Amino acid sequence: MRVAEIYKSIQGEGFLTGEPSIFVRASGCNLRCWFCDTPHASWNPEGEDLSVAEILGRIELLNVDHVVLTGGEPMLFSEMIPLCQGIRDSGRHITIETAGTLYLPLDCDLMSISPKLAGSAPDPVEHRRWHRRHEQTREQFSVVNRLIDEFPYQIKFVIDQVGDCEDVLAYLKRLPKIDRERVFVMPQGTDQSQLESIGTWLRPWAEAKGLKLCERKQIEWFGFARGT
Ligand code: SF4
Repeated sequence: MRVAEIYKSIQGEGFLTGEPSIFVRASGCNLRCWFCDTPHASWNPEGEDLSVAEILGRIELLNVDHVVLTGGEPMLFSEMIPLCQGIRDSGRHITIETAGTLYLPLDCDLMSISPKLAGSAPDPVEHRRWHRRHEQTREQFSVVNRLIDEFPYQIKFVIDQVGDCEDVLAYLKRLPKIDRERVFVMPQGTDQSQLESIGTWLRPWAEAKGLKLCERKQIEWFGFARGT
């Protein structure tokens, strides 16, 4: 499977914030969010083709107990099934970061689902084909239902505009079995001042709705840099 990067850092988002982790970034995505902060794994996928054994070998060398399988969209790749089995056999904790459009039967300790809202779509004029595909693909309620049934989970919504908040509530209404204690809203942005600016109105809104604010601590700690 094509891998853009494998590196050691600290988890900056969600329930496991602060946990030293190995990040394995699968290269390739079935969506094209305009705000994607990893275009090297979506819009312009890059990286090297690695076997499952090679990925497991690199994880072993980095020697950290938590592994985050991210992308791009890692659930595009069937190699994830033996990869997760191998990581589980090594005794490590597995987080999978996914947009929740695809299902695979695999081992996972935390399914971190980031469903994409209407405001994520790419420009309909500049990227007509991808806009249509993105809109046809991004909402897969039956997949998300299955993921939250089968795995411990967290849900992270990216919020750019006030209007996105209404879309979050509509989404939660469509899937009422989602536990709000497991729902994060995350400011869109790759610089700290932008995150803080959205956070000023998003935090009180989240608290009022019983949701959590996800601060994206990796931006605060390291800035917007690859490999962090
Ligand atoms: S789903 Fe994630 S990786 Fe894919 S385009 Fe959107 S933000 Fe980027």
